[in-house]
Amino acid sequence: MTSLSREPQVFSCELFPPKTDEAAARLREERCKLAELGPRFLSVTYGAGGSTQTRTLDTVLEIQRDSGIDAAPHLSCVGSTREHIREILDTYRSNGIRHIVALRGDLPSGMRDIGDFRYANELVAFIREETGDHFFIEVAAYPEIHPQARSAEDDLRRFKHKIEAGADSAITQYFYNPDAYFRFVDECAHIGIDVPVVPGIMPITNYTQLARFSDASGAEIPRWVRKRLEGFGDDRASIRAFGLDVVTGVCEALLAGGAPGLHFYTMNQSEATVALWERLGLPKAND
Ligand code: FAD
Repeated sequence: MTSLSREPQVFSCELFPPKTDEAAARLREERCKLAELGPRFLSVTYGAGGSTQTRTLDTVLEIQRDSGIDAAPHLSCVGSTREHIREILDTYRSNGIRHIVALRGDLPSGMRDIGDFRYANELVAFIREETGDHFFIEVAAYPEIHPQARSAEDDLRRFKHKIEAGADSAITQYFYNPDAYFRFVDECAHIGIDVPVVPGIMPITNYTQLARFSDASGAEIPRWVRKRLEGFGDDRASIRAFGLDVVTGVCEALLAGGAPGLHFYTMNQSEATVALWERLGLPKAND
């Protein structure tokens, strides 16, 4: 277990930028409900290749302005030039953003030019070179191994390179097997990684969507969970109730084992995250 499990725990939520005005209005409502929980920060994803650049910025600025909650844009570097990333960093800096989630991203299909950065550690190093200590930098971690990793050992070594390049903290890909996380943080500690590794939590609300994400990201849905979810068919209420039980259990095990916080992948829906927050008895904004 990393020594930082003794630091105050950090609870945060992730959103993605809306594509339409209608979606933006819905997101505003959901975001307000999440803000009532008092998350330490709200992060906003970024489409690899820059597809959501303006919408990510707009969403982040709106969050900071309306809720006063620290908003952290994700920034993926694949397919980008140094000049382009420099411009984005300048924009964030001039708008008072101090927290960023630095990623490689995945090259969108049809896009061939990988650009000036091959891996996320190069982006982290570039952010530090350009902006010094201005940003608190988060990076991604994979307790169940990144799908393109050469091996588990190599993936861990690559993760360490991101920390050595200047990352302050990490958020994991989601998983439902706490043992994979505990093994991962033990191995991190063993090779001298001393930043918090915050588990990413994906509430279970929609089996088809979850199965699709899991296939793409390598995040395993345990067989017994998959089978139970399949058995519910279109019965969304049962999926949600079962999902809440399962994910609550995962979170309880993680927190009891010393995880330094939880980062909720909300999918722009507050309901499941609010339910988990309450079941877990996490501190709220006005407590
Ligand atoms: P890296 O850390 O660069 O690793 C990618 C792969 O390359 C790994 O297999 C690693 O082992 C390997 N590797 C690293 N360095 C080397 C090297 N020098 N030589 C050989 N192999 C190497 N995607 C988005 O597009 N937008 C988002 O907003 C977004 N947010 C995310 C948030 C979180 C918390 C997480 C966990 C993922 C997110 N993703 C996002 C997905 C992410 O972009 C993908 O998982 C992507 O495939 C890897 O990004 P990374 O930053 O982890 O890459």
